[in-house]
Amino acid sequence: MLEKILSELQPTKTLLVAVSKTKSAETIREFYDAGQRDFGENYVQELTLKAAILPKDIRWHFIGHLQSNKVKSIAPFIHLIHTVDSLSLLAEIDKQARKYNRVINCLLQFKINEEETKSGLPESEIANFFDSEIFRQAKHVRLVGVMGMSTFTDDNNQITNEFRKLRSLFEMVRSKYYPDDEEFREISMGMSDDYKIAVKEGSTMVRVGSLLFGKR
Ligand SMILES: *Cc1c(COP(=O)(O)O)cnc(C)c1O
Repeated sequence: MLEKILSELQPTKTLLVAVSKTKSAETIREFYDAGQRDFGENYVQELTLKAAILPKDIRWHFIGHLQSNKVKSIAPFIHLIHTVDSLSLLAEIDKQARKYNRVINCLLQFKINEEETKSGLPESEIANFFDSEIFRQAKHVRLVGVMGMSTFTDDNNQITNEFRKLRSLFEMVRSKYYPDDEEFREISMGMSDDYKIAVKEGSTMVRVGSLLFGKR
């Protein structure tokens, strides 16, 4: 399955983030031995335990809801945090990254779905976010793009529209706040059930779990 998905992503150079939450270190190791280097995790404690025993050249992506008080455990090594959705979280990541003399790459998570429970910055907050003193002062965080999750539904039209929405938010933020900045370029969208739609709509990284590792 890894080979199949990689070959599907090849034409668009979309990155595969293998979502390994709840899967054992041995299972991750098998995928590592097959050449996979980018892995996504949702829970801080589980991630730190795995990162401690797995090879150091794994690029760990944090894709779950991140509580501010847990940022310090992942700050030394995290490759990309996909789920920045508030200024308070941004400030905490900046503070912890500074301690380790790092600049941590992050994505701004937008709310593009209908589900109340899923997080993400609402579109109406964009100006507030970028015009804030906190954002301007956060020299140890580099925003490199956006992330979003579609509604859990069989309606492919709805999923397509939500991914288009995320892409248009990306274009808007890029033109307004990152003109001529080549580093602001990532759109993290697409999971096992909808990654093909996401790739069609311009995803640069898909987060695929159950299709690779089996049901959780
Ligand atoms: C679990 C999870 C995934 C992977 O979901 P699958 O349906 O197993 O591919 C992707 N993104 C996020 C944010 C997740 O929590």
